Amino acid sequence: MNHPYKFSAPGALDYDTLLQSIESLCDAFPFVRKDRVGRSLLGKEIPALFVGETRTAMLIAAAFHGMEWITGWIALEFLRYLCVKAQEGNPQASDFFLHQGLCIVPCVNPDGVEIQIHGAGAAKQFEKLVERVSGGDTQHWQANARGVDLNHNFDAGWRRLRHMEQKSGITGPAATRFGGRFPESEPETAALASFCRRKRFSRAIALHTQGWEIYYRYGRHTPEESYEIARRMAEAGDCLLADAQGLASLGGFKDWFIDYFHKPAFTAELGYGKNPLPLYDAPGIFRRCLPLLLEFLA
Ligand SMILES: [Zn+2]
Repeated sequence: MNHPYKFSAPGALDYDTLLQSIESLCDAFPFVRKDRVGRSLLGKEIPALFVGETRTAMLIAAAFHGMEWITGWIALEFLRYLCVKAQEGNPQASDFFLHQGLCIVPCVNPDGVEIQIHGAGAAKQFEKLVERVSGGDTQHWQANARGVDLNHNFDAGWRRLRHMEQKSGITGPAATRFGGRFPESEPETAALASFCRRKRFSRAIALHTQGWEIYYRYGRHTPEESYEIARRMAEAGDCLLADAQGLASLGGFKDWFIDYFHKPAFTAELGYGKNPLPLYDAPGIFRRCLPLLLEFLA
């Protein structure tokens, strides 16, 4: 699927903007179907969007972390790109829509994103907790509204991870890297896991920032084909193929997806610099990420 392609103007993806972006996408492309993953701790609906054949759909999930909402913009923009191509009659896009499908979850952690963009007040009844554990710095907030890092809360080596967290001095709610009191303790994590069990996606990718790296391995259930898909994505996006170490190696969504379904799942660390990446990086990240995500679908 070739360029040229005109970008939509990126904006900070707080919850209102997220919902507006979804509305305008659905208005422009009536074949996009809205669904919901579930609700966040503060009761916000976690939206999902489907195109093509639901039974063979792949999943792109973004914004697990508060200061990584730029990945939600990337996911929405990628869906819009595919829709534009399909509407133009691009044979690859039309063929994909006919035989395969895609689901995007642009924001797994809407409460965490609101806190990062709008401050501790956005945490409502958890405002005091957020103020305390962030030390007033909500710019670098990654967790959900009660200080659990969603990407440490999935049921994949969680006990070992908890042990490692405790050894690093992370024993309770924090802006980042606290995995909760038990696996899937958080509504966002439980909702995404149960959504995946219902939808039976054929593969999944989680978008994070930053580093231009792709992770594809977790334990003995990593499918053989994972390496080849990851290699193609890495080549297309000029990324490193990486192996997670330490606190980043367990409890994540891709780890759980591989372990539970024995199907390919990936983490892509997009962009380069210091989190939160500035909004003006978004179009450049999208351009480099586009061939990578097309390889994910291939
Ligand atoms: Zn992340």
